[in-house]
Amino acid sequence: MLNQTNTELTREELMDKIEAQNLLINELLAEKEAEVKLDYPWKGNLGHWYWNIQSNDVVFNPLKVTALGYSKDEIPEKVPYEFFTDKLHPDDYITAMDKMMQHLKGETPVYEIEYRIKAKDGKWKWFYDRGKVTQREEDGTPLFASGIVFDVTSQKEKEENLEELTSSLIEIVEKDELTEIRNRRSIFRELKAKMMKSSIEEEQLVIAMLDIDDFKRINDTKGHVYGDYVLKEVAKSLSKTLTDKGCVGRYGGEEFLVILPLMGRDEAEQLLNSCREAVIFNEFLKNESITISGGYTLFDHHDSHEEFIDEADNYLYQAKRSGKNKIVGP
Ligand code: GH3
Ligand code: MG
Ligand code: MG
Repeated sequence: MLNQTNTELTREELMDKIEAQNLLINELLAEKEAEVKLDYPWKGNLGHWYWNIQSNDVVFNPLKVTALGYSKDEIPEKVPYEFFTDKLHPDDYITAMDKMMQHLKGETPVYEIEYRIKAKDGKWKWFYDRGKVTQREEDGTPLFASGIVFDVTSQKEKEENLEELTSSLIEIVEKDELTEIRNRRSIFRELKAKMMKSSIEEEQLVIAMLDIDDFKRINDTKGHVYGDYVLKEVAKSLSKTLTDKGCVGRYGGEEFLVILPLMGRDEAEQLLNSCREAVIFNEFLKNESITISGGYTLFDHHDSHEEFIDEADNYLYQAKRSGKNKIVGP
């Protein structure tokens, strides 16, 4: 079928065009056959695309473009591959290109990817795209590819909302509301995991119970709201001093449980004393002379985490009885 523009083409250009049409016809015929077999219902969700790789012509269900907010008249007569790839989200561009190149080179059986494309209004739409080179030259050079594409924006949005919800739920379940460090449940879970690891791998492990000295006096003289503030500041000082060498959770009230994995007695005692000093020198508590006491112990194949904690608690008791503001261990 020759239209007005075609009559202006040279014989060579016409031959190229006919060749391209032939490829597409072959494709469509094969497709039609498969479609009859599968009775694939497309309804509204984007549909098929066909890419003549040699002439770089993409033929597609107009939904692929109208879904991006363009009207049918805005679709250029010749749509090259770049019409879509130029609108790819920068974070998805390299992955999409790599996957396509791998497939064109015959390294993967299909091309399958999710990517974001910029719609006309500047918003990002998520597409799921799956395709395959369907015709190659004898030497493997790809001639033709076809595939399907879905608009998965709403599914993606649901997925993202779910991820956000999950992470805020984890925060609620794992974090102490007041001090924002791990809560009792979370630090216990961590302790059990670390005890298990130490048993299996024969690794050193130290735990400590820390307790604010004369905290009742703070509450009695300055009120509970100020007491809460002190708790928060103490928790901050502890986390900041421990860095990633250990972790701390709120055991209850004004007591904290510290876990120091892969650490021996001396290093642990030194780090716990740094924690003790960090509370004394906390710039927001400087005028309050707030101190903490601590008892620590070394893991030695204790039967339970309760027994392990009890041992640290006994050393804490010794620290309190012998004058407070100190760290005591075995
Ligand atoms: P010691 O040096 O022997 O540890 O004395 P202490 O006063 O710190 O210990 P005690 O166990 O007598 O008092 C602990 C106080 O901690 C009592 C309780 O009201 C207070 N407390 C526990 N949880 C909170 C809290 O979440 N906020 C506030 N403001 N106070 C709390
Ligand atoms: Mg206490
Ligand atoms: Mg106390």
